[in-house]
Amino acid sequence: MKLLMFGPPGAGKGSVSARIHGKLDIPHIAAGDIVREESKKADSKVKPYMEKGELVPDELIMELVGERLSRDDCKDGFILDGFPRTIKQAEFLEQKGIQIDRVVNLEVDEEELVRRLSGRRMDPDTGEIYNINTMEIPEGVDKGKLVQRPDDKPDVIRNRIGVYKKQTQPLIEHYRGKGVLRDVDANPALPEVVENVLAVLKDA
Ligand code: AMP
Repeated sequence: MKLLMFGPPGAGKGSVSARIHGKLDIPHIAAGDIVREESKKADSKVKPYMEKGELVPDELIMELVGERLSRDDCKDGFILDGFPRTIKQAEFLEQKGIQIDRVVNLEVDEEELVRRLSGRRMDPDTGEIYNINTMEIPEGVDKGKLVQRPDDKPDVIRNRIGVYKKQTQPLIEHYRGKGVLRDVDANPALPEVVENVLAVLKDA
């Protein structure tokens, strides 16, 4: 199954994808993770965009994601989380002849998005994501070492939500028109959202 995970920043695209890719036996490819890896390089072109909450240029992200999708493990399907984010990126997939079976559109109220994003913390050693606003941090996790993503600071969060509305939301109608998009209420807690996502994949 070739699946796109859509939704504003903080909707839970990464958390939902991480919990279902094993069940579907397909890789989870997160454009944001690819960008974060790339931003660690000394001559990184992506870092300045990411830090401001702007999208990196289409040509750059299309090259990075295109390379990842060309690998063997994507032959039989994948979950693409955070790509495409512009019409140009969607056209890139079409030009490559990649047929999308299902687009899951995670819908969350804006207030809840800000609550989730501002509480998000990452373990810098494992990359594991926790949330001080929405979950109990498990025993054994050293809370003191958890860090906030630089782009989860309040002014950058606002910018990312604005960029989403302007550049990415139009894609929803693009895929709705193709009949492959399903809306999922992503306001509830994660286990319920995961169940609802799996339900809309049954007929894909
Ligand atoms: P995310 O973890 O999905 O919120 O992505 C983090 C950052 O990576 C975004 O704010 C962008 O700067 C960059 N990024 C991720 N995916 C894309 C994309 N499809 N197009 C452009 N920039 C992206």
